Amino acid sequence: PAVDALLAAANAALERVTAPDFPADWNAIARELDVATERLGRAWGAVSHLNSVADTPALRAAYNEALPRVTEFWTRLSSDERLYAKYKAIDPATLNGEQRQALHNAVRNFVLSGAELQGAAKERFAQIQERQAELSQKFSENALDATDGYAYYASAAEIAGLPADVAQAARAAAEADGQAGYKLTLKMPSYLPVMQFADHAALRERLYRAYVTRASDQAEGDARRFDNTALIQEILALRQEEARLLGYANFAEVSLVPKMAQSPAQVIAFLRDLARRARPYAERDVQDARTFAAEHLGISAPQAWDWPYISEKLKEARYAFSEQEVREYFTAPKVLAGLFKIVETLFEVTIRPDSAPTWHPAVQFYRIERAPAPGSDAPPTLVGQFYLDSPARTGKRGGAWMDDVRTRWLRPDNGQLQTPVAHLVCNFAEGVDGQPALLTHDDVITLFHEFGHGLQHLLTQVNERDVSGIAGVEWDAVELPSQFMENFCWEWEVLRHMTSHVRTGEPLPRALYDKMLAAKNFQAGMATLRQIEFALFDMLLHTEHDPAQDCQPLLQRVRQEVAVLQPPAFNRMAHTFSHIFSGGYAAGYYSYKWAEVLSADAYAAFEETQGADGQPSLETGRRYRREILETGGSRPAMQSFTAFRGREPQLDALLRHQGMHDLPA
Ligand code: ZN
Repeated sequence: PAVDALLAAANAALERVTAPDFPADWNAIARELDVATERLGRAWGAVSHLNSVADTPALRAAYNEALPRVTEFWTRLSSDERLYAKYKAIDPATLNGEQRQALHNAVRNFVLSGAELQGAAKERFAQIQERQAELSQKFSENALDATDGYAYYASAAEIAGLPADVAQAARAAAEADGQAGYKLTLKMPSYLPVMQFADHAALRERLYRAYVTRASDQAEGDARRFDNTALIQEILALRQEEARLLGYANFAEVSLVPKMAQSPAQVIAFLRDLARRARPYAERDVQDARTFAAEHLGISAPQAWDWPYISEKLKEARYAFSEQEVREYFTAPKVLAGLFKIVETLFEVTIRPDSAPTWHPAVQFYRIERAPAPGSDAPPTLVGQFYLDSPARTGKRGGAWMDDVRTRWLRPDNGQLQTPVAHLVCNFAEGVDGQPALLTHDDVITLFHEFGHGLQHLLTQVNERDVSGIAGVEWDAVELPSQFMENFCWEWEVLRHMTSHVRTGEPLPRALYDKMLAAKNFQAGMATLRQIEFALFDMLLHTEHDPAQDCQPLLQRVRQEVAVLQPPAFNRMAHTFSHIFSGGYAAGYYSYKWAEVLSADAYAAFEETQGADGQPSLETGRRYRREILETGGSRPAMQSFTAFRGREPQLDALLRHQGMHDLPA
C-alpha cells in the first residue's frame, strides 16, 4: 500500500509539472517532480534491496505484485512528451553547471528514445523497439535452449583427468537420467573442467564442437532448430534502421552518444592500437604453450580443443599454489582494516562505526567523516554513510554489488543538503569454529572493487541529484573508480600489512605473493587479443557491416586481423554472443578494455608520484578525489580524466600491470 501511495503522489506530481500553465523552470519542476520520484525511488530501493538480501516468500510475493506498476511508472515518465517539452523550454542560462549537465542528459535521453520523431517515423520507431525486444528475448532463449539441450554420457575411460568432484556430479546427473556413465553438458561447471582437464582429446573435441556451434547453422541434427542466424540479421537491420531514423549513420554512433568514447573511429583505433601492442606477448604465449605441449604432453599440432588443456597443465607446472593456503592469510577483519586505512590516508577522511537499524545482525553500518581545517574547533563533517553486508547466507542473492540508498542532493524542497548513503554487498564464506572469516584473494579484490564504486557515490561533492555520485556517469567510465581500487590488492606493501595468518599471525610470504602475481599475468597477451577480437567484431558489425549479409565473413576477417590462434571454420561464436544481441552491450563490448585502460592509467599516476618510503602522494590522492571521485557525472568523464592526469588516457600502464612491457614493440 505504501508503494501505491507513493506512486499516486509521483503521478500527481507529473501531472502538475506538465500542466500547460506550469513554468518551464528547473527548480520548480524539481520541487514537485524530483522530490516525489526520489521518495518513490528510495522506498522501492529499500524493497528491492531486501528482496535481494533477505528474501522471504511474503516479501517476494509483495515485490512481484508491485513491480509491474513501478516499472510502468518509470517507463512512462521517461517517455512523457509533455515533460520533454517542458525540459526543452528551460533556458540553460538560468542554470548552474551541474543543472545544465543534468538537463542535457535528460533531453538527450528523450531524443534517443524517439521523442523528436513525428508521424509515421514515430510509429515505426515504436514498432522497431517492440520487435527488438522480442528478437533479443528469442536470441537468448535459443542460446539457452541450445546449451541446455545437449548432453553426452561419457564412459569412465573417457573422463580420465577430470577432477573428482566434477566426475561425481556427472555420475549423479547420469544416474538421475537413468543412464550409465557420466553426463557431460555445455554448462560451465561441466564444460569448462572437461576442456581444462579431460585427457582424452576426442572427448574435448566432441564437446568443443557442440559448444562453439550452439544456436547456429553448424549445430548437429535436431539442435539446428535453435539457429540464431536469421535473428542476428534482423536485429542488425532494425538497429541500422533505428539509427537512420534518429539521424545517425549507423548504430554504433547511437550507442556512443551517452558514452565517454567519442566516435566509433576512436574506439576502433583504440582496439587496433591495443592489439598491436599486445600481439608480441600473445605470440610469445602461444610459442611457450606449443613448446610445453610438445615436450611434456606429446601434442605436436595443437587443435582449438587442446589449448585450454595445455594452458591448464602449463599453469599448474609453473605457478601452482593452493588457494586454501592463500585464504589463511586474508582474515576478514584485517583486510577490512587495511582497506579503511588506505581510503583514510588517500582521501583524508575517517571511517567510524555508526548505528542504524539493519536487516540482519551481521550487517555493519559506518560513517565517513572529514576533519575540520587545522586550527578550527568545528566538529568533523559527515560525508556519507554505508551498510556493509558481507557474509553469504540463505535468502541472499549471490555476487557482489554497490547500490545507492540515498544520493547527495541539495534538496529543492527544504534547502537542506542530503548526504549520500550506500549499500556494499558481498557474499563471503563465514568463519568456522569461532575463527574470523577467511577471504580468497578474489574476495579481497571484489571487496575493493565494490568499495571503489562506493567511494564515487559517497565522496561526491555534487549537489544535483541526477549527476551526483555515480548518477549520470557515462556507462564506459563507471568502472574506473572500482577497478582503480583493485590495483591495491596487488601491491606488495599493501598486502604485507593487510594479511595475518589465521593461526600464526604472519603476513603473506613473498614467495607466495610472487606466484600469485605470475599466475595473474599468465597468458595475458592471448587473453587481451581474445577480448579485442570480440570488441572489434562488435564495433565493425555496428558500423561498416551490411545487415543484409551474413556476419560470419566479417568475424573471419577480424580473426585474421587480430587472433593469434585461428579457430576452426565451423566455430560460430557470434550465434551465442548474448552481450551484444540480447544484453545491452551492442557497440559497447569495448568498454571492458576501455575501463581497464582508464583505471590502470589513473593508478599509474600514484605509482609515478609515490614517496621513497612507498607511501602514496597525498597531492595525487587529493587530485584524484577532486577531479574524478567528487565530480561524478557533473561533467564529461574525459574532462575529469584529463583534469586529473594532465592528458588523455594511455595504454602503457595497463600493459605494464599485466606484464606486457619487456618486448620491443
Ligand atoms: Zn563494477
